[in-house]
Amino acid sequence: MTAFFNGAYRGTPPWDIGHPQAEFVKLADDGRIRGRVLDVGCGTGENAIFFAGLGTVLAVSGIDASALAIEKAKRKASGRGSRAAFVVGDALHLNELKQRFDTVTDSGLFHVFSDDERALFSRSLRSAMKDGGTYFMLCFSDEEPSGWGGPRRVSRDEIRSTFGDGWKVDWIRDAKFETRFHQEGGHAWLSSITSV
Ligand code: SAH
Repeated sequence: MTAFFNGAYRGTPPWDIGHPQAEFVKLADDGRIRGRVLDVGCGTGENAIFFAGLGTVLAVSGIDASALAIEKAKRKASGRGSRAAFVVGDALHLNELKQRFDTVTDSGLFHVFSDDERALFSRSLRSAMKDGGTYFMLCFSDEEPSGWGGPRRVSRDEIRSTFGDGWKVDWIRDAKFETRFHQEGGHAWLSSITSV
């Protein structure tokens, strides 16, 4: 998996759009990105760097398994004078960060996981959230055509069954996931999931 992503980041992968995802900009406009923020599977850091500039945010970290993505994110952050911090690490072992967050954002990570990884991720993520913290997740939905390949398509039921114990699924909304080749974004779900 890491070899695949490191290879992709040698160029500019389709999801690396050079600006924050519109769905996360809307969440920020609504004041929902707050406190200590972690962007999990942050790639080259556009979302994390955007969050770090918000008045509602205390600190922002981005974590990604790809060393090359993190190198690019760090370079961008220092070039733009951003205080977002980036670290190489595994989203399936977030307890190793030894930090808890008020807000965790996920733009296109969850949909890369296998069924087994989903269960591990749910536990890992819970260990890095404050009680009452919120995880906002953007993933391709089962309404996105499968013809072009890409990551898994995810159903609402799969989201609900992954985030059972320790979580409350607040809502799952129709959304768009921007890529470099979708004119108006791919069909996606944006979920708000609170740790309880
Ligand atoms: N959020 C970024 C990247 C989305 S692509 C963006 O919107 O541009 C999915 C990202 O998840 C890739 O950067 C990949 O390296 C990362 N990833 C995949 N498995 C991971 C894992 N187990 N732990 C941390 N990051 C992972």
